[in-house]
Amino acid sequence: MARHTPLAILTDLDGTLIPFSPHPDQTRVPAELSALLQSLALRSGIQVAVVSGRPREALDRFFPASPAVWLVAEHGGWRRADGAWTEALPGESRDLDGLQADLERLVARVPGSLVERKTWALALHFRMVAPADRGAFLVEASEILEAWLRTHEGFERLEGAAVLEVRAARIRKSLAVPWLREKAGAGARLIVLGDDVTDEDMFGAVGTHDEAIRVGPAVGRATRARWTLGGPEEAIAFLRWIDAARHEGPTPAPVHVPRPIARDGRREAGPAAPHRLLAISNRLPDLRAPTEPGETRKKNVGGLVSALEPVLTARNGLWLGWSGRTDAGGPAAGPGFDDSAAPALAWIDLSRDLHRRYYNGFSNGALWPLFHTFPARVAFHDEDWEAYVRVNDLFAEAARSLVPEDTPIWIHDYHLLLLGAALRRRGHRGPVGLFLHIPFPGPDLFRMIPWSDRILEDLLACDLLGFHTPNDVANVLQCAGSLSPAKVGDDAILHRGHRTRVRAFPIGIIPEGFQEAPDPDVADEAAALIRSIGTSELILGIDRLDYTKGIPERLEAFARLLVLFPEWRGKVAFVQISVPSRADVPEYKQQRNRIEAAVGRINGEFGEAHWTPVRYLYRSYNRNQLAQFYRAARVGMVTPLRDGMNLVAKEYVAAQTAANPGVLLLSRFAGAAVELRDALLTNPWHIDGMARDLDRALRMPLPERLERHAKLAAIVRRTTALTWAEDFVGALEACR
Ligand code: UDP
Repeated sequence: MARHTPLAILTDLDGTLIPFSPHPDQTRVPAELSALLQSLALRSGIQVAVVSGRPREALDRFFPASPAVWLVAEHGGWRRADGAWTEALPGESRDLDGLQADLERLVARVPGSLVERKTWALALHFRMVAPADRGAFLVEASEILEAWLRTHEGFERLEGAAVLEVRAARIRKSLAVPWLREKAGAGARLIVLGDDVTDEDMFGAVGTHDEAIRVGPAVGRATRARWTLGGPEEAIAFLRWIDAARHEGPTPAPVHVPRPIARDGRREAGPAAPHRLLAISNRLPDLRAPTEPGETRKKNVGGLVSALEPVLTARNGLWLGWSGRTDAGGPAAGPGFDDSAAPALAWIDLSRDLHRRYYNGFSNGALWPLFHTFPARVAFHDEDWEAYVRVNDLFAEAARSLVPEDTPIWIHDYHLLLLGAALRRRGHRGPVGLFLHIPFPGPDLFRMIPWSDRILEDLLACDLLGFHTPNDVANVLQCAGSLSPAKVGDDAILHRGHRTRVRAFPIGIIPEGFQEAPDPDVADEAAALIRSIGTSELILGIDRLDYTKGIPERLEAFARLLVLFPEWRGKVAFVQISVPSRADVPEYKQQRNRIEAAVGRINGEFGEAHWTPVRYLYRSYNRNQLAQFYRAARVGMVTPLRDGMNLVAKEYVAAQTAANPGVLLLSRFAGAAVELRDALLTNPWHIDGMARDLDRALRMPLPERLERHAKLAAIVRRTTALTWAEDFVGALEACR
């Protein structure tokens, strides 16, 4: 590669070619370095550009007489080729005066700190702040920056080596990559060197025939570079070797060879294989390897994990999510990374406040109730929305530092509706798809969101949108129809020249898991509960404790059954398992109180010395235990008021004994009802009707149960979690 023509070298300065000095003004560029860069440009015919976060004046001063060495200042915002400076993005906002005034007040109080004003950015340096004062300084500085960022879209926060920076988000070092490539001419290959997070942008923008080299000691953060050099000294020795290799004929191997970099920041022998799929969801699964000797790998395997694991593993994929931590003080310099898990995991931290507003606030206090058609429970707060925008940006930032720009990305769920657009703004070009795990509302509800147009626009930056049911697809098409200038077809939306495919991909389960024999480790507990109901017919409800699940309504229907059909008294038992969920949210606490009051009332009213009508368990069970409950239940009562899909319905079907199956009593408002038409469908909003349907389920004769179950089981076996994930990823990859 050293002898390839045309060849271009794009290199960062501070930390890459020269060591950091305590104060930015103390930096000097040694004469030998200038001479080396000139030689590479003039003698070796390489297009050399030095890229830096520094202002133009500083770079002019560093390289006074080297017009052949091109310069890129202010993180890509300004460029100097052939002697004259030009803007990379003319017209980008420079409105930073207010923030500058706030930061200068802070800096006046903290010795050693320094504000540096640039065209589109402000840098707050703290390398010289006494170590003991740094913590408090950073807390205060972060508060100022975050408050300002909430009201200034289009700007973002960056953290470099002992510097915090706010900058117009579109200005990035990566802008220099296509610029230099074009200037260098057709067939050019690039060698890109850099040391800190701001250089990761450039690394992410390199093409398949280019090479990115991270300079500096190995650190625990993820990098998108393929190679590493130990520090500025090694980097310069390497550049010298390239210079020699261009015109000195056969040249001995360089003293400092760039070494391949392992994906977790450690060095290893071979180049890392690229990730061919990135999944992004709010939470990460718990895929940690066993930590204790002898511990078996009992993973927290929710449905999504079982579904995604195979498609990710087959593509050497990577899964990015929130770490679950809110105490680490917020976003760090780059995402955390663990490639000992399969699939590999990457994560970001969020500050407590940001997480509360984004997760409890906008995601679960606005989108969740609205999308589930509970508009009365919706609360819109500007600050929650701003946090939501910000977190989507943070995920985009992390994603861009993890995978190349052409990697397919699969986004999950309502927490990340803006992520597709945030990725595009940062230059991601590969296919981007989003699957929504909850319902999508019709226009009447959707337009209640004050930012509905922005959400739609950002969704339409994706190439593929997936939903559980055709009804959700129809709703999104209808909502998009009102967005100018969108053109809506049956399965696609054309908006601003970009086509977004829209399709239903009903999620399934892994049915075999619910046919497994009881696991001796946990069987006793489940068996004891089943034994405790004696000879009564078991009616079973299992859900997360959520107001969408219709648990109080289900209890009322059971009570109504005992009134309308008193012959069932003493002969049936209702078991409700409610898995604790979002327990710190007041709405969920209220819901819990409401359920507990109903259970107490029903047991008080109908219970007898030898018969307890309702057993209520506020806890969770593992899959093997659930399978035993499902199998023992004569009626699986799955009656959400509204649900995206509802996997419990499918799991109940999968667990039944084929020769004597129970009856699935299923809400019409669960997404699962579209496929599971042979369940006994019921309306959970109508208590009397539900009580009568429950009676019918309890009385259903064996031949009818056999016929319905055979049809349901065929569907549950056909569309599984695995076929769902393969279908989605296949459609996503086809969007290339
Ligand atoms: N679940 C569980 N333990 C329990 C109760 C439920 O692991 O004690 C699982 C259940 O097997 C199902 C999931 O939680 O896979 C619930 O998914 P569903 O689609 O029914 O509802 P969601 O909670 O996603 O709204």
